[in-house]
Amino acid sequence: MPKPRKPAVRRTLPRGAALLHDPIINKGTAFSKAERDALGLRGLLPPHVHTIEEQVRRALDNYRAKKTDIERYIHLVSLQDRNETLFYRVVAENLEEMMPIIYTPTVGTACQQYGHVFRRPRGMYLSAGDKGRFRAILANWPYRDVRVIVVTDGERILGLGDLGASGMGIPVGKLSLYTACAGINPVNTLPVLLDVGTENEALLNDPLYMGIRRRRVRGPAYDELVDEFMTAAGRNFPGALIQFEDFANINAFRLLEKYREKVLTFNDDIQGTASVTLAGLYSAMRITRRPLGDQTILFLGAGEAGIGIGDLIVSAMVDEGLAPDEARRRCWFVDSSGLVVRGREGLAAHKLRFAHDHAPCPDLAGAVEALRPTALIGVSTSPKAFTRPIVERMGAFNEHPIVFALSNPTSKAECSAEEAYNWTGGRAIFASGSPFPPCVLNGRTYVPGQGNNAYVFPGVGLGAVACEARHITDRMFSEAAKALAACVLESDLEMGRIYPSLTRIREVSANIGAAVAAVAFKDGLARIRKPANLLRHVKSVMWKPEYVAYV
Ligand code: NAD
Repeated sequence: MPKPRKPAVRRTLPRGAALLHDPIINKGTAFSKAERDALGLRGLLPPHVHTIEEQVRRALDNYRAKKTDIERYIHLVSLQDRNETLFYRVVAENLEEMMPIIYTPTVGTACQQYGHVFRRPRGMYLSAGDKGRFRAILANWPYRDVRVIVVTDGERILGLGDLGASGMGIPVGKLSLYTACAGINPVNTLPVLLDVGTENEALLNDPLYMGIRRRRVRGPAYDELVDEFMTAAGRNFPGALIQFEDFANINAFRLLEKYREKVLTFNDDIQGTASVTLAGLYSAMRITRRPLGDQTILFLGAGEAGIGIGDLIVSAMVDEGLAPDEARRRCWFVDSSGLVVRGREGLAAHKLRFAHDHAPCPDLAGAVEALRPTALIGVSTSPKAFTRPIVERMGAFNEHPIVFALSNPTSKAECSAEEAYNWTGGRAIFASGSPFPPCVLNGRTYVPGQGNNAYVFPGVGLGAVACEARHITDRMFSEAAKALAACVLESDLEMGRIYPSLTRIREVSANIGAAVAAVAFKDGLARIRKPANLLRHVKSVMWKPEYVAYV
């Protein structure tokens, strides 16, 4: 079996206080007596040696005593800054509780207050003023063996808009999930904020804002900065995966097209969302027993998420034997101007491939009536857009209507879980972007699924890292979706849950990683020799939050 490259635990071990201040190697009170003697730690720590389990308990007690989510976020970030092994142990063991803190929605609040809650820098900032020096700057990063980079320019942070350099919380949070969910070693990760300015007046006028004070660089000058970053990252960290995150629509599709065949890259807002949604459809099909090629899917919202999902569904349908045109005609979009149809004036380029021949239709209700879809997918940021009459009509057309209200946060969801179940007599197959609590209808408990991207992107990254893939392809995302759906248990489906429990996320990520690597080997995109057992190989490269004995 090919040996995975050893994660570079850099340089010789520091001693004394320097060791306690290095979060990658620090163990705090868990340093053994022998380590304390050998590494100059005697007296710098209270005398009792604690186990990691005891440290977890202390961290959890403190965490749970916090009154607000932002305090919980700051508490966890501070722990990460002190002791990464302990941080990941705490998070991995309590992922369902902590995911909404280290990622959406609390990370959004943290980004909005970034300059005000800032404690210590994390990740790298490359700003427009550094043009021409990106390569030298990236060389300042202390770890050489970077395998996964998440980069944002901060222009469209979650649903919160342009947060400029305060968007750094997003790459930091995403990479924490790579480690917590898929065992990517923290020393192999690099969060990057490309600071090209901001249009956010409040930030530009905030003395505590930490980014450059200028309006966004646009046009060719912007493209040159992104290009310089891509080249510098490729030279400094050859073969590293670069995940684009929270770029605005105007740049996201264009940059993905520009780089996807050249380097190992993907855009989670477009492709990760698509994969997790396709997985939801595959699970739902285990209930409806209707194949993908038989679905008629109507989207509300034709942005990054919607078009990304549409493209991946088409690609999966084509893999199953449909002609591309036929597959595209199974996906329809309603945006803020009504049904996307051929000949409609002013259609953005990314919508054209889904503009079919059809009479104009001003709204979603009319489109549902005209198309009789099997699935309704909300990615519109338009709260309550799935009204009772619309959901009832979906229930009239389908024994099990598929209703995904994916807009985030909860306040933006197109309908609630309870509404979807109530309006269809419990027949709807529901998923949402933000979590909804379980609900009871006619004595039966329904547990709504959350189409969280964290089910997919860490596993995709793991698979790419494990086989040293050259590119990330759509087929990898559709196979990731199948692998995710295959992890859903019959007992999950019986509760209406179309995604597995987050408590199984490491196992899920390993399966997705193996599926992605299998595509890479099949399509000649892997750089290593094929291992006999892919799943075992993928698991073997997963880092575990356990202390290493230094002495
Ligand atoms: P986007 O800004 O790229 O696209 C939003 C689209 O909705 C645009 O096409 C816009 O024209 C359209 N729209 C706005 N108001 C509308 C209305 N009243 N009726 C119809 N269409 C309307 O944003 P995006 O990245 O595509 O994200 C959309 C939503 O999906 C967000 O709320 C986001 O949080 C959510 N999302 C969820 C997941 C997930 O659940 N895993 C992943 C990604 C995005």
